[in-house]
Amino acid sequence: MHKRDAACSCGQLQVTVEGEPVRVSVCHCLACQRRTGSTYGFQARFPREQVRMTGEAREYTRISDAGEARTFSFCPECGATVSYVVASVPDVIAVPVGAFADPSFPPPQFSVWESRRHGWVEMPAEAERMD
Ligand SMILES: [Zn+2]
Ligand SMILES: [Zn+2]
Repeated sequence: MHKRDAACSCGQLQVTVEGEPVRVSVCHCLACQRRTGSTYGFQARFPREQVRMTGEAREYTRISDAGEARTFSFCPECGATVSYVVASVPDVIAVPVGAFADPSFPPPQFSVWESRRHGWVEMPAEAERMD
């Protein structure tokens, strides 16, 4: 099975995933902009049993506008987030795609929160758009 390695900035916290992601998406919401420091979040979701995290992590839980908890695991040394879980789908783990540092990673199938998208950001034509 295809294996991929993700890591924080300093390399202390690592995530290894096996197999292909079940969903690859971009989120343009303002919370994702704040979390990443970029203009959108780009994440890939994998079944929990295909994800292994090693190293020391700290957690931060944010409650979404809809009242749902999202728990982010980040490195206490460098602060980079390497995975997160949405309360309604606890059996799936999301990994920020940038943490793989792999420009050949599959493109997003979904573009979420299009109303918050920065005007210059273009998504792949085949990506499904939603708000
Ligand atoms: Zn780190
Ligand atoms: Zn978002």
